[in-house]
Amino acid sequence: MPHNFQLPPEQMDILERYPALFGLAPGGKGLTLLGDGFACGAGWYPILDRLFADLAVIRREDVLTRLRVVQVKEKFGGLRVYVDGGNERIQARIADAETEAAATCEHCGGPSPGRRSHDGWYGNICDSCAQKRRSEP
Ligand SMILES: [Zn+2]
Repeated sequence: MPHNFQLPPEQMDILERYPALFGLAPGGKGLTLLGDGFACGAGWYPILDRLFADLAVIRREDVLTRLRVVQVKEKFGGLRVYVDGGNERIQARIADAETEAAATCEHCGGPSPGRRSHDGWYGNICDSCAQKRRSEP
């Protein structure tokens, strides 16, 4: 499905750093997978960046040539990363990233007590981000 959706530059930076993980054509621009980018807040991008760096290493070491990251999103205040063609090492490393994200504000990347209710919606954001959000119109 073609898309003209422009991903935020911080997401493109991460996607372009690990082309093998996302099914990018060599030297090409076309995203064949993950065309909608990461459906989570920018506070988690550093966690994703470190995760993908490690996945790329495991991919090489364990010769997982079919490994692809197919979806990255926030669900119920937690990070979810879905892959095809992984193994136990891959799943364990993803579980670590999801644990780290559970204690990280999705908005600013600072420490967060985890998923909580904020005036009727749920999110994994810290107190000061919740405060800012409340004071916005
Ligand atoms: Zn925050």
